[in-house]
Amino acid sequence: MALSRRDLLKISAILAATSSFGSESSKKDVDIKKSISSYRVQNAPLPKPKGPRVVVVGGGWSGLAVAKYLKKFSPKTDVVLIEKRSVFVSCPLSNLWLVDLIDLQFLTHDYLQAAQNNEYIYFNATVYDIDRVSKKVYTNEGIVSYDYLVLAPGIDYDYEEWTNGNMELETKLKSLYPAGFIPGSEHFTLKRKIEEFEEGNFVLTVPGGNYRCLPAPYERASLIAWYMKKEGIKGKVVLIDENPDITIKKDGFNSAFNELYKDYIEYLPGSKITDIDLDKKRVVTDMGDEIDFSDASFYPRIRGAKLLEIVGVAKDSAFNKKEADIDPFTYQSKADPYIYCTGDVRPMGFSKSGNTANSEGHLVAKIIASVIEGKEFKWDSPITVCYSAVSGDPIRAISVNAKYAYDKKKKVFTFKDASTMENWKGKQGIMSGKGLLEWAKGMYRDMFM
Ligand SMILES: Cc1cc2nc3c(=O)[nH]c(=O)nc-3n(C[C@H](O)[C@H](O)[C@H](O)COP(=O)(O)OP(=O)(O)OC[C@H]3O[C@@H](n4cnc5c(N)ncnc54)[C@H](O)[C@@H]3O)c2cc1C
Repeated sequence: MALSRRDLLKISAILAATSSFGSESSKKDVDIKKSISSYRVQNAPLPKPKGPRVVVVGGGWSGLAVAKYLKKFSPKTDVVLIEKRSVFVSCPLSNLWLVDLIDLQFLTHDYLQAAQNNEYIYFNATVYDIDRVSKKVYTNEGIVSYDYLVLAPGIDYDYEEWTNGNMELETKLKSLYPAGFIPGSEHFTLKRKIEEFEEGNFVLTVPGGNYRCLPAPYERASLIAWYMKKEGIKGKVVLIDENPDITIKKDGFNSAFNELYKDYIEYLPGSKITDIDLDKKRVVTDMGDEIDFSDASFYPRIRGAKLLEIVGVAKDSAFNKKEADIDPFTYQSKADPYIYCTGDVRPMGFSKSGNTANSEGHLVAKIIASVIEGKEFKWDSPITVCYSAVSGDPIRAISVNAKYAYDKKKKVFTFKDASTMENWKGKQGIMSGKGLLEWAKGMYRDMFM
């Protein structure tokens, strides 16, 4: 929790007392502490709200939809989107960019334009704490007060099963062999690895639990294999999957692995990594396999973003550690009625995908607007639409489309009206490849225009 006003007064009093005596060096120390202290208690440079203020933390697929549609559904509401990135780079379709099938511009979007078009405030800052009592969000750029708060910070990685608290190993895995499942530098490192790869095994992993984007590791394996085949690289992708089988679009990926990439993908299902030796560049699995690698990208298990735990609104879910502890129909925190959590931090077993997170953003905007405007709202299922490319030039893709229904007896959500298109061959596969690009353009329009 953030420092209380009383703590801050105490610190200020100590700083005031200590700054009046002591040597030159201790004076310097005091000045440094003082500047940090006063900086922390400054209000963020934002205009005074003209209506109830809703602060949305996280400008990803869910947070962007909440900010835009909340302003539409409740124009009197003052909406502030706090996002630590200055530029949006899309995770969906990033696998295509890794192998040069699209350019970076396609994935990159402008937060300022989204905010201007939709009349909310984009505040470029990192949230490090939230005081739920005084309803204040602490950022590196000052404090932002709220009436309602939406937390949409996405996921963090959970390396514990592999590292067992060995921070040196965790840091090496993160920096030398990043997963590339959180937007940012990781993707650039991964792209460089693929471009510089000469020969041998390129290890990729699929974690257990409800990990972010079920098909993405299989899509990535297919596209890296496609790239190796096209470039005549003497190597293969070794895909180590903790799950007993391909977790989604199984027929489509299976046939692509077998028919397109027989010599380029070695798929190892039901294999848990028991040891990673980065000096020897060797991975050992519980199936007894010892795999030497030339390069790798290790995708560990995921957990809800740490911010939720800091704020005290997280709980282990049936799938992952420390996801949002919320009512699954209203997205309201069980610990705090003024906080809502949406997107990949949710504990429900929905697909952790951009389309799902975006459709939840629409719903959460509707829910908060109805609370502010004193209206009723009706729950609607999130929508999962997810295309995966299996090859390039022309891009061929497969897809899944689903909604969810609540099973009252089992108290879980199950797929409703789910359908897949897993034939990447012929015209259908090419049409689906075009559908993938059109889907992405539509989503970017929804979030930014
Ligand atoms: C390689 C890959 C391929 C994918 N392909 C698809 C696909 O084809 N289709 C699909 O539907 N989905 C796909 N996904 C999944 C999709 O990207 C995620 O499900 C989606 O991004 C989740 O949205 P979100 O808003 O919950 O989180 P995010 O999009 O991750 O957004 C969270 C935001 O919060 C910000 N943030 C976090 N902490 C703070 C803080 N403390 N202060 C300020 N800001 C903060 C982050 O910077 C980030 O912008 C893919 C993902 C990957 C990695």
